[in-house]
Amino acid sequence: MSITVPTSSYEDTFYVVDFDRTLADSDKLLDVFISIANYYTDISYEQIKKIDADIKIKGDSFDTARHVRDQLIDRGMLAQWHQLEKQYIHESRSLNMLLPGAAQLLEFFTTTSRRYGILTYGNPLWQHLKLSASGFNHVPRIVTTQKKKGNYIASWQRDDKIFSLPDEFGGGEAAKIVLIDDKAVSFDGIPGRPSRGYHVVNYDTALPAQRGEVPGNVTRVTSLYEVIERL
Ligand SMILES: [Mg+2]
Repeated sequence: MSITVPTSSYEDTFYVVDFDRTLADSDKLLDVFISIANYYTDISYEQIKKIDADIKIKGDSFDTARHVRDQLIDRGMLAQWHQLEKQYIHESRSLNMLLPGAAQLLEFFTTTSRRYGILTYGNPLWQHLKLSASGFNHVPRIVTTQKKKGNYIASWQRDDKIFSLPDEFGGGEAAKIVLIDDKAVSFDGIPGRPSRGYHVVNYDTALPAQRGEVPGNVTRVTSLYEVIERL
């Protein structure tokens, strides 16, 4: 007679999802921002794209918003900055800024009552603006300046191996964390099993900053649909 082993529960799991290039089309978010910023400043599209591209090669995130805001403030145009922010969020919401599978993944978390939050690396002003533009105002999120998210997640783990979740993620505890991210470096320091990760990247089109080795408890997949199938 076979013994039925209960399927592993996910109630003790917290899902941490990256934002840029995992859930959202970051190129499109930047393009729309720059085109609207053009109405308000004389910073050219090419100028911003160039700075952004230089920084992206290093795997960093350019604080486009701060750059434009500072230029406007220098000219005593704070009101125009606020107007730009509003217009950016408004126009972005009429477009779909999400990558394939992103809406389905979040829907999956909601319908199966799983706990999740967005963990994004970058400069707070620009990250929060993009999150709002993508319609994620009500999703728990943390903007971190730590590129190695695994290390950051490991800092939540107590001596008894249980994770104390940050207040932004609702507090409480979790026995395991699942990290979903497009950049290899994000998984550096990720706690071992039962925690795990999904590196969502298509190697045919991957940026240099997305590539790299990942720890053994991280599975490489090519789309968020594949993540959903495996959760
Ligand atoms: Mg990313």
